[in-house]
Amino acid sequence: MKKTISIIGSGFSALSASCYLAQLGHTVTIYEKNDSIGGRARQFKSNGFTFDMGPSWYWMPDVFERFFQDFGKKQSDYYELIKLNPAYRVYFGIDDFINIYDNLEAIKSVFENIEKGSAKKLQAFINQAKSNYDIAIKDLVYRPGVSPLELITPKTILKLNQFISNVSSDIRKEFKNERLIQILEFPVLFLGAKPSKTPSFYNFMNYADFGLGTWHPKTGMFDVVRGIKKLALELGVTIKTNSAIEKIIVENKTAKGIVINGTVIHSDIILSGADYQHTETLLEKEHRAYSDKYWEGRVFAPSSLLFFVGFDKKIENITHHALFFDVDFNQHAADIYDEPKWPEAPLFYANFPSKTDSTAAPDGMETGFFLIPLAPGIDDSELLREKYFEKIINRFEEITQQKIKKNIIFKRSFCKNDFVADYNAYKGNAYGMANTLLQTAFLRPKLKSKKVRNLYFTGQLTVPGPGVPPALISGKLVAELIQKSL
Ligand SMILES: Cc1cc2nc3c(=O)[nH]c(=O)nc-3n(C[C@H](O)[C@H](O)[C@H](O)COP(=O)(O)OP(=O)(O)OC[C@H]3O[C@@H](n4cnc5c(N)ncnc54)[C@H](O)[C@@H]3O)c2cc1C
Repeated sequence: MKKTISIIGSGFSALSASCYLAQLGHTVTIYEKNDSIGGRARQFKSNGFTFDMGPSWYWMPDVFERFFQDFGKKQSDYYELIKLNPAYRVYFGIDDFINIYDNLEAIKSVFENIEKGSAKKLQAFINQAKSNYDIAIKDLVYRPGVSPLELITPKTILKLNQFISNVSSDIRKEFKNERLIQILEFPVLFLGAKPSKTPSFYNFMNYADFGLGTWHPKTGMFDVVRGIKKLALELGVTIKTNSAIEKIIVENKTAKGIVINGTVIHSDIILSGADYQHTETLLEKEHRAYSDKYWEGRVFAPSSLLFFVGFDKKIENITHHALFFDVDFNQHAADIYDEPKWPEAPLFYANFPSKTDSTAAPDGMETGFFLIPLAPGIDDSELLREKYFEKIINRFEEITQQKIKKNIIFKRSFCKNDFVADYNAYKGNAYGMANTLLQTAFLRPKLKSKKVRNLYFTGQLTVPGPGVPPALISGKLVAELIQKSL
């Protein structure tokens, strides 16, 4: 039966859901509060520089391919991908770094040179990670998080111990060199929790990293947003920006419509791709399934301090993606998760898309993006942002042995307060709710409202979790659930 469906937000999960629902024949309209689409993956241009505002690591290309295949298309019909080599570089001190290359054999040689015997151990570790990837990403994450039974399959029963142990302790059993340990712990940070709080099973992220590689859409991550938008329009979806939803109308415990700028828009189904906690504030209290206490008790992924910087020269000694792990990894993690505060010595991540994509910056110039992960809900002020910019830019200059401060011709910061103002993000989280053992699959907030009929949710606070590939999957899962209920 053909339905009218209103979707709140235009992030990857909402865009994905819109495609599946339109393909099923429904009349689908996306309403986005901001003036451009893409949610946390928006893009802006200024002074000739192009900045992707959120995701920059294109991992798990197979998930994107599977998405387009569901519509009889190929990813390459919508955008071009470049495999990065080195995939990324990890700095540990002045001119002291490890490059992670684009194939496992080369990475094994790097490991072996640092720790004798580690190449063989890495192969075994990645074999196990691949087996988990095949179970998780090709199957489990495509289950809707309705029942615990979804997780019980002949294959997962054999891996039960991997839900009890954690990624950090497993890695430490095999590898002794602290640098190699940090490199192996890095991928699960994308899931939003400390490696010591992330079940071992999630080491499939290491296969995504070393096995499948790091890719870059030719003119930036926004190519993916543009590609999916094109597909959505081809399927008949309508997209409206500058349309903040103020209220969800409920009658007889059934969602009936939304209110935008005081105007009521009636719909058969409401699907929210906006942050879950925010969406429930659009309902009267009695219709909310999760209390303030519930949200307060969850482990959220970090917020972030971001800087978008344009340089009037090329930056030397740097790769497209670079991690600055020259300070204590565990202390920074404790400052995010254990006793939330601004870290004394922050780890940071820098990316220079203009190293790969000449359109990202004017000729002879460089586009830079810097990210410091921070505790969600932390105090945010211009003064603090500037203090931390000084800290990281000084370290950048020292570690990469060059002066760049005087070459900054554009700079914009983005931090917790912006995540709240721009995305209605709970505590200004950057990438949703962490995937800890107690926040996995059926233990995450539900795709279908427990209190209001015809109201659904998608995105990084529900299943399967944070990241662009999970957001695409989340859109598919909710579309299937909606269709099943009709
Ligand atoms: C800095 C940063 C770096 C990241 N790096 C990576 C990476 O390298 N690789 C990766 O895979 N993932 C990364 N992520 C995570 C990834 O970007 C997200 O998981 C994903 O984009 C989330 O998509 P979503 O659809 O769940 O939500 P969002 O993108 O947040 O979309 C929600 C949308 O709802 C809109 N909205 C909110 N309230 C309303 C309202 N009342 N009315 C109308 N619209 C509303 C918002 O404006 C927003 O557009 C990163 C995220 C950030 C922030």
